[in-house]
Amino acid sequence: MRLVVAAMLHETNTFSPIPTDVARFGHRAMLKGKEARDYFKGTNTAIAAFIDQAEAMKAEMTIPITASAVPSGKVAAKAYKVITDAICEAIDKGCDAALLDLHGAMVTETEEDGEGALLARIRKLRPGLPIAVALDPHCNCTQAMVDNATALVGYSTYPHIDMYDTGKRAGRIVLDAMAGKTRPVMSWKQVPLLSQTLRQGTDDEPMKSLNALARAKEMQGLISASILFGFPLADIRDAGFSVVAIADGDKAKAEAAAEEIARAGWNAREDFVYKGRALAETVAEAKDLTDGPIVLLDHSDNAASGATQDVMTVIAEVMRQGLEDVAVAAVWDPQAVQEMTKAGVGATVTIGLGGKTDMPSINLRGKPLSVTGKVKTLTDGEFVIRGPMGTGTKAQLGPAAVLDTGKMQIVVISRHHEPFDVGIFTSLGIQPTEKRYLLLKSRIHYRAGFAKMAKHTFRLDGQGVTTSDNTLLDFKKIRRPIYPLDRINDWR
Ligand SMILES: [Zn+2]
Repeated sequence: MRLVVAAMLHETNTFSPIPTDVARFGHRAMLKGKEARDYFKGTNTAIAAFIDQAEAMKAEMTIPITASAVPSGKVAAKAYKVITDAICEAIDKGCDAALLDLHGAMVTETEEDGEGALLARIRKLRPGLPIAVALDPHCNCTQAMVDNATALVGYSTYPHIDMYDTGKRAGRIVLDAMAGKTRPVMSWKQVPLLSQTLRQGTDDEPMKSLNALARAKEMQGLISASILFGFPLADIRDAGFSVVAIADGDKAKAEAAAEEIARAGWNAREDFVYKGRALAETVAEAKDLTDGPIVLLDHSDNAASGATQDVMTVIAEVMRQGLEDVAVAAVWDPQAVQEMTKAGVGATVTIGLGGKTDMPSINLRGKPLSVTGKVKTLTDGEFVIRGPMGTGTKAQLGPAAVLDTGKMQIVVISRHHEPFDVGIFTSLGIQPTEKRYLLLKSRIHYRAGFAKMAKHTFRLDGQGVTTSDNTLLDFKKIRRPIYPLDRINDWR
């Protein structure tokens, strides 16, 4: 048995000004062969499950590439070609199946549907090849993806803490089918719903009940039910909510289950829309509290959804209102880190922090904030993630520093990284449990590392290209009508 195992992971925010070239993939991982196997083995990732499955059955395994980049703007055509050529060349050399760890929301300079185009190309090379695909539920699923894969299975958690299990399930479906034990048939239902990230957490409604419904369907004999709630910051035709159901030989059963879950998602549409609140008002409410840690979410500037992570609006307001004992993770500003490195630990510096990036899609100019503080810590920005999300993988912040203003300790980093693990603080000498406020540039994933310690949590409506204010975003390509851009009441 010969298996091709590969990963291609990028969530593309078409409103993001950050370019996604080959180098951006290089930051995280563009590994292959034994190097990729050794890096991912034992981690909580879908590809780790594929590796374990291939090794358990003593298959001949080829890993042509594992490419992953922090979310950002459209993927450069060259980067997409490098990744997809590697995968297709390995498959073309001959294999019995492909086990792929894909995100599902990749948009390139030339393709609205990076994953669908890849899967179609593979199937054209090897018609009928069994293909297992593990997906992120932020997948904006398409007909091309459904038509050109044997099994699509999405993570069922957000924060994503079941990546390994998802890979295991996707791989198992395809390997069982190859062994003649099952005959998977897939059904896909797309709903005209652009659900918002802040309302997609699986510890909250409506996802809690929708997940329970999907699990109930699996208990009733369905092979798999995946709720792909979609990534809303993508102006492409197929952005939004859909459901994939897989049944054993029974197409009608898959259709009925997908339909029922999709209908339930549609019925919950109002719950998938975030309702904002004035920034100053939220900060004032947080200021009145004394028992910490109190989590303050600068959700409009979330790097793991494509934001620049250098918008200073929320930090400026928290400073203006005089909150004390605040730790911030993190401001992306390689230039500021260099200035602090030059000044050295212990030096007092005044720097124009953040605000280095313009965001033409939302008409926002980058605006640095003048901050005076002491250089508290300098590190290489590397730490191993020990929390439940991406466990065992290595975070790479690039050169990192802490700027301490007295009231606020600000982690400044050189590579984009959403704070979802306590290591973002502890690796830089800050104990998050001892702080009154943790100001995090995050939306939902912070929960993996910080939800348990948080006494209160506030969503601070700042600025940035991960805004939840749809009136700021100019959608041109998405299919219409779609809720909530259009106030429709019928999904057909
Ligand atoms: Zn995701």
